[in-house]
Amino acid sequence: MDKTDLVISQLIKTHGTNNPLRIAAQKNITVLFEDLGKNTYGYYACMNRIPSIHINNRLDEFETRFALAHELAHHILHPGVNTPFLRKNTLFTVDKIEREANQFAIKLIIGNTQPENGETKNCFLLRCGIPEEFHFFY
Ligand SMILES: [Zn+2]
Repeated sequence: MDKTDLVISQLIKTHGTNNPLRIAAQKNITVLFEDLGKNTYGYYACMNRIPSIHINNRLDEFETRFALAHELAHHILHPGVNTPFLRKNTLFTVDKIEREANQFAIKLIIGNTQPENGETKNCFLLRCGIPEEFHFFY
């Protein structure tokens, strides 16, 4: 179990859910759904110590969950860091904090679900509701 796995299992235990929207609410993070155009998933901001997550209201259900989990990751893993906007065309960035947040997001979405005996990574992630284009982050 690496550090991210540990942080996530504690997070799920503390909040009784792996739903990023419910975790954000319990952590008193303001979540705002806004029209952020065609290319942006969302961003995290912390103004006067008040954290907020901004999510594009044009996203589908999975993208919304992923973006929420990604921005929540910044709040938990990267406090005080000025994080970039999460954009579709920079999703596969090599930026360290972005990669960490993407991996965290996928692992949070998987939650406590375990792979079954002989199940391929692909089948497992699809069963967790994760579209193929996001399997890269696992
Ligand atoms: Zn990010």
